[in-house]
Amino acid sequence: MQSYDDKVLSIVIPCYNEERNIVSLVKKVLESPIKNKEIIIVEDCSTDNTRKILEEEIKPLVSKIIYHEKNSGKGAALRTAFKEVSGDAVIVQDADLEYDPAEYPSLAYLIFKGEADVVYGSRFLNQKRKGYLANRLANRVLTKFSNLFTKQKITDMETCYKCFKREIIQSVDIEEDRFGFEPEITAKIARMGIKIKETPISYFPRTNEEGKKIGFKDGLRALYAIWKYRK
Ligand code: UDP
Ligand code: MG
Repeated sequence: MQSYDDKVLSIVIPCYNEERNIVSLVKKVLESPIKNKEIIIVEDCSTDNTRKILEEEIKPLVSKIIYHEKNSGKGAALRTAFKEVSGDAVIVQDADLEYDPAEYPSLAYLIFKGEADVVYGSRFLNQKRKGYLANRLANRVLTKFSNLFTKQKITDMETCYKCFKREIIQSVDIEEDRFGFEPEITAKIARMGIKIKETPISYFPRTNEEGKKIGFKDGLRALYAIWKYRK
């Protein structure tokens, strides 16, 4: 398989209260089989030891760390990060271990090859689908509702692994500060006339006790965002 060693993948990591995960996550990102990586972390004003760990252990390993003065949410952290990226393709990486950076090539190569402008990693195209029942059902409803307005035929709108050609993500104005980012970006990409490609990915879900921050209210906000950003 061609390895696209002349291309760069920008990995953007929104990070809030992830003291338990950030070191192992960054190690996995560094080990992922993409030669040229630009890693940008946005520290979203954590209240635990995340900031200290970033300063003491992570800083020399990554391209850039940007600090938010105020906790603003995943969408806001990504808005900050997308302004800074310079790679050929850009992928969103949560600061937890729910997704596997070893799988970057299956998304990024489609963009490096020029076969896609936007690729989502789908947790549900995978046979061994995992995830808690309530979350799975919520994901299904939100994806179907999103498809209805965007005319896309995707299976996992809420996935974290969203990979974009850099010029495309930098041309989008992101308005949602929190988890409304996922339906917003999906709607805005659709509006640009782009067909989102999907590729199967693995998923290792974490619970709220393990640090997951998304909740029922975010589901309602996602429904509202699907409607708000429809054509
Ligand atoms: N996050 C953030 N700011 C916040 C809440 C979350 O930057 O106010 C980050 C969080 O650290 C994680 C990502 O956004 O890297 C997604 O959060 P989470 O894993 O809780 O949500 P889910 O995986 O369910 O989308
Ligand atoms: Mg997560």
